[in-house]
Amino acid sequence: MKFELDTLVVEEASRDSALAARLVAALGSSVPVSYVADAREAVRPTPGPDPFGAGKRRMVVLKRHTPFLMACPAGSAKFACCGYLVLVLASNCPMDCSYCFLQEHVANNPAFQIYSNYADSFEELDRLSRSAPGRHFRVGTGELADSLAMDSVTGLSKDLIEFVRDREHLTLELKTKTDEIGNLLQTDPRGRVIVSWTLSPEAVWKSSEHRTASPSARIAAARAVLDAGYRVGFHLDPIIAYEGAEKDYAHLIDELLDVITPGRISFLSMGSLRMTPGLRSAARRRFPHDPMLLGEEVPGHDGRLRAFSALRVRLYRIIQQRLARAGRPVPAYLCMETSTVHERVFGVAPANPATIGERLALG
Ligand code: SF4
Repeated sequence: MKFELDTLVVEEASRDSALAARLVAALGSSVPVSYVADAREAVRPTPGPDPFGAGKRRMVVLKRHTPFLMACPAGSAKFACCGYLVLVLASNCPMDCSYCFLQEHVANNPAFQIYSNYADSFEELDRLSRSAPGRHFRVGTGELADSLAMDSVTGLSKDLIEFVRDREHLTLELKTKTDEIGNLLQTDPRGRVIVSWTLSPEAVWKSSEHRTASPSARIAAARAVLDAGYRVGFHLDPIIAYEGAEKDYAHLIDELLDVITPGRISFLSMGSLRMTPGLRSAARRRFPHDPMLLGEEVPGHDGRLRAFSALRVRLYRIIQQRLARAGRPVPAYLCMETSTVHERVFGVAPANPATIGERLALG
């Protein structure tokens, strides 16, 4: 395992679960394990200079008592959107990106939670499919956690892939900033699984994406899973408007297309750095020297701060033009941008979220 943990806490009700057994077997000799009757206290912030950072190193295994499936928190009728559905199997992440929205979103319960009853989510997915016969859904686990960061010890990807690969109406998206693909290479996805990587230029990786795999390692991992029968997608999100960004993003696209031909990329999403005032304060407090957090920003309709729209549109267009030059089109879409910005980049208004989601699910 690449990521260090301080402790593993297992709620008694999860003690006999398959997940707890796997984790204790994998970590028990190197990480202290404790059992508690009620894990609510263990997920809360602990006193100290960085409760959120400390939470990342405290893994808590417990049951989830609320639904696993939810609409993507980024989704909104006001914004260009892909109709993504989120399956919450874990909360928080052992990596530490300075811009990560979890710094605000899970500030009150920052422990790295993993849900032992994750198999109950499969029934939710079946119910969703039964409720809309003929529809295809793209469902991802990488919203409140990285899909693969701890996969070498949780083995969750194998169970998920084995469930999804027999269901033609579902496409699973595993989203990551790691190169933890060992389990994927041993499992046949039968075309039903997209693995997506968030990509950033080297400069952003170095300054802001702590403990993540390098951009080249992510692209190499994408190539490996593609060759193993997975579909691949990429998220350029957050795109950050720093000095030199235009050249760096163009170079990143060139590097990607050198390794993966455009016809084999299922999608590429683009979204700009956006922060609520609360997230910006938390991020600047935790990473006071990160130059990527210091750009000039203006508030949008949703109260989030973004770079000026002219700067954002310019970066999107540069990326879009680079993709267009590649010969075969790469399906690209914007995340959390207005229709106006979408039209300025692509020349047309965005399709509705369900249509985009279905198109992406079907590839
Ligand atoms: S990898 Fe994703 S979830 Fe993890 S810290 Fe970075 S942005 Fe947050």
